[in-house]
Parts: sequence; structure tokens; C-alpha cells
Amino acid sequence: MKVGVIGGGPSGLAIARMLSDKGYEVYVYEAHRSFAVKPCGWGYPTPDSDEKKYGVFSEAVKASLWVFKGYNVYLNDDLLFHSDKQILGYIIDKKQFLENLSQGIEVERGSPARYLGGGLIRGRSGVKRFDIVIIAGGFPAQPRRLDRILAVQAIIKSPRIEDAEIPELRFYSDLVGYAWVFPEGEKTARVGVGGYADRETLEKILSMVIKKRQDLAKGEVIKKEGAEVTVSGIDWDLARSRDPFYVGEALGYTMPVTGEGIRPAIWSSIALFNAIENGNSYEEELRKLKLTRFIGIQRKILDIMLKMKPSERDLFIKNVPEDLMLDLSLGRAGTFDLLRLAKIPELAMILAKYAIKII
Ligand SMILES: Cc1cc2nc3c(=O)[nH]c(=O)nc-3n(C[C@H](O)[C@H](O)[C@H](O)COP(=O)(O)OP(=O)(O)OC[C@H]3O[C@@H](n4cnc5c(N)ncnc54)[C@H](O)[C@@H]3O)c2cc1C
Repeated sequence: MKVGVIGGGPSGLAIARMLSDKGYEVYVYEAHRSFAVKPCGWGYPTPDSDEKKYGVFSEAVKASLWVFKGYNVYLNDDLLFHSDKQILGYIIDKKQFLENLSQGIEVERGSPARYLGGGLIRGRSGVKRFDIVIIAGGFPAQPRRLDRILAVQAIIKSPRIEDAEIPELRFYSDLVGYAWVFPEGEKTARVGVGGYADRETLEKILSMVIKKRQDLAKGEVIKKEGAEVTVSGIDWDLARSRDPFYVGEALGYTMPVTGEGIRPAIWSSIALFNAIENGNSYEEELRKLKLTRFIGIQRKILDIMLKMKPSERDLFIKNVPEDLMLDLSLGRAGTFDLLRLAKIPELAMILAKYAIKII
């Protein structure tokens, strides 16, 4: 069976790797000459017990550059939570991770490709025919624009990053979104902000975050970049499409509150792999995944945040219990967590005001 994959990001190369290992003849088109060109924080949560069973997730951890032991959460620059006890995640070398996944697979690089229908893909080298076509081109490959926000990021080299094992999340009353400081060793950090705001506002917040910390302010911005992140939740019409199949961010399979997309991209590819291998429905395979529920819950929380006034958002963030904030940040908050929110008196009042049903 010949499989054509458009897009050499985490979703495209994860499905390519799994199918190739099973003997499928896989051909990947990547628009850029190298992998991981799209801006990304390279943050990756520690795998849970389900993820430890899959080689693709282990490959991500193998490519890790830096380990995070805890995190700090701020609201309007006041520290809300501090934890430095457990390993929560990594900064992975996304380029290396994708290179590793692509080993032994034919990749046509520098080749923006187009699906022509009927199994035909046009790339730089001409038109090729495939039995299965998979669209893994990230947000630009969505056939209709899903809900997306902008995120901007600066990569900073500094003489010394303080508390380099502790990443930061910073919330602001006026922004539905958040800023992050992800150290990548003791001399480099990825500092970014994403949310429902225009580029100018996000860039102002970014400069503010950098100025807040002397170690970052003293450093040199070696790169400034920006891109959109899909926050819509899953597009179920695309999940039902068989020709072509859609995976990863092209399908809307990203975490709507945190914007995390690498691990979700891999999970959507696992669902597609199971569907192709076992002749099952892709939609059903996606619905079986825990992460599909977590994505739905994050979208619900985002809807709640969007309805609130800034002062109510502050109250909300201040009253989220620490363990729940952690589950949310790691993309592991389930229905039970959401029900807990509704039992907190301050939050119950807000939810009632906007007639928000929690389940
Ligand atoms: C600023 C920012 C920070 C982020 N930080 C994080 C983070 O820390 N952790 C995290 O998990 N997620 C993060 N994300 C989200 C994450 O980067 C994406 O959701 C994830 O990479 C999606 O994987 P994907 O394979 O679906 O798509 P992509 O990573 O977008 O890969 C798609 C690939 O397809 C290629 N392509 C597109 N169209 C074509 C075409 N026509 N022909 C050939 N090739 C094509 C692109 O060049 C690209 O290489 C961040 C996003 C942004 C914008």
C-alpha cells in the first residue's frame, strides 16, 4: 500500500513512522528544507503510562534537551503557585525528534505539495499516485479556518537563566491566553505569549514579561517569531473524511487552553494508524482516546473564560485548586476536574451567572 503524507511535522512523521514500520510504502512531502521550522515552544509534558507504551512518544523524550522540575504560575505578575518537586516535562529538540522519526522514510523536502484528489499529489518532483493520502500540514492545511489565536515568541540567550528548571506560566486579567517562559538550559529561554489579542498587544506583553526578569532583560533576543495555534477543538467533519485523512493541527487536534500540539498530534496519528491497520473508523478511534475528552474539556473552559469579565477571570484563576491547575497545564484535566470547579462557591456563582452547564 502506498501512503502519501503532506506535512513533515509531529503528526505527519508519527503516522509515517508507524505505517512504515508495518511495511507500508510511505512518502512524505515537507514544504521546508528542514523540519521544525514553524515557531513552537518545544515544551513537552512527561509521558503518562499510556504514552510510555508507544515508541513515538519515547522518541520525543529521547530527544529532550532540558528537564522541568516544577513550575511557577503568576496572575498579573503575582506568584500564585510554586512547585519544584516533580519532573513535569521537557524541552525537546523538535528538529532532532522529527529527524529521528523520519529515518528510513522517503521525504521530499522543500516541496509544498497539493492534493489533487483521486490519490494524486503534486509536489516539487511532479505528480504521484497513492492508495491513502494523509493531510498533516498543520493549521495552514485546514480546509476551512478553525478558531485560531496568534502566539508570538522570543528566543533569548542570557549569561545565566535563573531557576532554569522551573518554567513559568503568566496569566493577565485582560488576556484570554497566557505567557510562558520555558528555559532551555541555563543560557537560553523561549519566552512567548498567545491569546485572543492582536499582534501589537501580544508583543507588548512579551516585552513586559522579558523586562520583569533581570536574567531575561540582560539577555539578547536572537529570534522573534509568531504563528497561529488552533484552539477550536476537533473538527469532526474532517475526522469523518477518508479521502484524504486529516491528522494533528490540520484536524484541530490541539489543546484549546494551553495550545499544546505536539503530543496531541502524535495521539491523532495513533488513532489513524489503528483505524488503517484494523479497518476501523478513524472517528471511532479518535473518540476512544482520553485526550479527545481532555480537548473537549479544555474547549469548554476556554468558552467559559471568553464569557467572563476580566475581574471574573482573575477570581476564576485564583480559585482553581493547585492540583487542577497542574492537570490543566499538562492537558490532563477530565470531567471530574470540571465538576470540582462547579463546587467551588466563587466559581459556581460565575458559572450560574452565565448559565454555563459544566457537562
Ligand atoms: C508560538 C507557538 C508555540 C508553541 N509551543 C508549543 C509547545 O511548547 N508545545 C507543544 O506541544 N505545542 C506547541 N505549539 C503547537 C505546536 O507547535 C503544533 O500544534 C504542532 O507542531 C502541530 O503538529 P502538526 O504535525 O499537526 O503540524 P505542524 O507542526 O504545523 O507541521 C506541519 C508541517 O507540514 C508542512 N506543510 C504545511 N503545508 C504543506 C504543504 N502544502 N506541503 C508540504 N508540507 C506542508 C509544514 O511546513 C510543517 O512542517 C506552539 C505553537 C506556536 C505557534
